[in-house]
Amino acid sequence: MTSDQQTPVDLASGDLVFVGPPGVGKGTQAKALVQENGWVHLSTGDIFRDHARRRTELGRLAKAFLDRGEYVPDEITVDMVRERLREIPRNTRVVFDGFPRTVAQADALDRLLAEFGRHVGAIILLEAPREELLARLSGRARAEGRTDDTPEVIAKRLAVYEEQTRPVVSHYERRGLVRRVNGVGAVPDVTERLRDAADRGPG
Ligand code: AMP
Repeated sequence: MTSDQQTPVDLASGDLVFVGPPGVGKGTQAKALVQENGWVHLSTGDIFRDHARRRTELGRLAKAFLDRGEYVPDEITVDMVRERLREIPRNTRVVFDGFPRTVAQADALDRLLAEFGRHVGAIILLEAPREELLARLSGRARAEGRTDDTPEVIAKRLAVYEEQTRPVVSHYERRGLVRRVNGVGAVPDVTERLRDAADRGPG
């Protein structure tokens, strides 16, 4: 989306962070909300995959981590987010999808946002039972052919999420920013729940 299509929002409402395990539908849902509201979608997974496709230096480096289901090192990820944030007008809401994934990234995000005169408005935690995630991820492997959707890598990604990203939720829970949303159901029904959660305002 180009900047002239973006909708200015009340700065007080802040940016949104989508957190949730692999396969919960963060990407699909973030794209839907962003499109209907004129916000900006910032998916670190999409940016890494784009670099990998274009075989940039960052892409080659990131692909090794992606293919193993491991996280790309924090410093590399944070620098990439900083570069992307530079291009986004301050009065346009950003939906972070898949970032931050570690507590160090969450701390870095606070600093980055302050640097750009922005702040986190809410963390939206999208949840679904493990069996549902496994079914969706193996379906996606067939449909999209993602190299990180093989059974071994899927198991690894779920384990890495529990170990490294769960603490990010607790980190934001202490600040009263987390809104839990049930990710099970038809895509439009989940979008509706997310719309409500996003509209609830900060705090
Ligand atoms: P996603 O598309 O969000 O599921 O991300 C796919 C893969 O990209 C992850 O399994 C990681 O290897 C990498 N990745 C995406 N976001 C991050 C992040 N914030 N920190 C580190 N690695 C990431």
